[in-house]
Amino acid sequence: MARHNLVPILSFLLLTLVTLQGTDALHFFKTEPEAVTRINSIHYEVTNNATGTLGGTRFTDKIGITYSKSILQLASEFNCRVFRQSKKSESKNVESIKMYVETMDGVAYTSNDEIHVSANYTADYSGDVKREITGVLYHEVTHIWQWNGNGNAPGGLIEGIADYVRLKAKYAQSHWVKPGGGDRWDQGYDVTARFLDYCNSIRNGFVVDLNTKMKNGYSDNFFVELLGKNVDQLWRDYKTKYDN
Ligand SMILES: [Zn+2]
Repeated sequence: MARHNLVPILSFLLLTLVTLQGTDALHFFKTEPEAVTRINSIHYEVTNNATGTLGGTRFTDKIGITYSKSILQLASEFNCRVFRQSKKSESKNVESIKMYVETMDGVAYTSNDEIHVSANYTADYSGDVKREITGVLYHEVTHIWQWNGNGNAPGGLIEGIADYVRLKAKYAQSHWVKPGGGDRWDQGYDVTARFLDYCNSIRNGFVVDLNTKMKNGYSDNFFVELLGKNVDQLWRDYKTKYDN
């Protein structure tokens, strides 16, 4: 009996293995099983509070609740990978992530593990709105997972790290500054994201270590500790490299 059943079982296992080999998910699962279990156990909830408006309808037609939920989960997994928060002790304790589509100004904001996305922005965005909101969600989900130096880190750095994750997820917008662009290292968003990418090119793992250090506090000296130069010198080197 047992011998009789072995062939289909082995074929199934082989097929599963071959299928999984080609996916990034397997790599993630292999390297950080604890993180996968943790991310999977989070409760994800998406509510459209703007139904009947132009943006609320466009959200339903072009993006949708199911897709948004999957992005909240994928972006959480991506954050755990980017920040290498494989163990629970290294990571924030997040039990649920909620997202609301609302009639409001601006693009989006996050507080208390709740992401608010503007229906007005969704309505007015010209171009691939699904891709754009996906990028916005990678940015906002990062705010849930990143450390903020107990509230002492510069706001521009916090926004820069969120856009750095968006950049690494390949959802940067076409109008972002090019590498070397901007006036100050802590200008925030794309400017700081590009600068952090440069810093990470000097030493791979820099952004991971910077985020880890920001768990309990913040000091500009973290740049010296991690790269051997102060942040102003690094900014000058960066501007010189791209000659602007
Ligand atoms: Zn932000």
